[in-house]
Amino acid sequence: MTRVIFLGPPGAGKGTQAKTLADDLNIPHISTGDILRQALSDQTPLGVKAQSYMDKGELVPDKLMEEMVQERLSQVDTKSGWILDGFPRTVNQAVFLEELLRKLNQHDEKVVNLEVPDEIVVTRLLERGRKDDSKEVILRRLEVYRSQTAPLIDFYSSRHNLLSVNGNQSLEEVTVELKKVIAS
Ligand code: ADP
Repeated sequence: MTRVIFLGPPGAGKGTQAKTLADDLNIPHISTGDILRQALSDQTPLGVKAQSYMDKGELVPDKLMEEMVQERLSQVDTKSGWILDGFPRTVNQAVFLEELLRKLNQHDEKVVNLEVPDEIVVTRLLERGRKDDSKEVILRRLEVYRSQTAPLIDFYSSRHNLLSVNGNQSLEEVTVELKKVIAS
């Protein structure tokens, strides 16, 4: 059974790697960014509420995110495992997730931190050119990452055995290393 929480700055390559690993292991890839972008394009109530935050590079409020993740992790396809990409992004979300996983009897997850230096992340995000990737918004997302999400590294280090992988290698090399770490 594989349950993985993926941590790392925006642009670390979490999405690409999470998708590869999830396909390989035949488990769902749960990307909160993808779910939000879908909600936005469908103009659901969640999408409408989330839009202004996403456009500015700010975090969507914890409450909305927590409801969304609780609903997703309660669906049947998650019984075989999952890779969570983009959640938690705040210590509050991490505390919520810990409690949720305990309730769902799924509290055996691995936490993997994909490490990439700041300069590399900025370059990658600028090259990617997604709609929410203007320079100003990218810099704001990095700032938000540093102040609100990076503290999760200490949070998980003190609870679990936080696993770290060097994300500053070729895609293939990162995949190989991640597979090793997840299987260990
Ligand atoms: P990236 O690929 O840059 O890491 P994502 O695709 O994961 O970005 O997320 C895009 C946007 O969706 C974020 O900038 C944020 O506004 C919102 N978002 C995604 N996950 C969360 C979360 N767990 N908490 C708050 N906001 C989130």
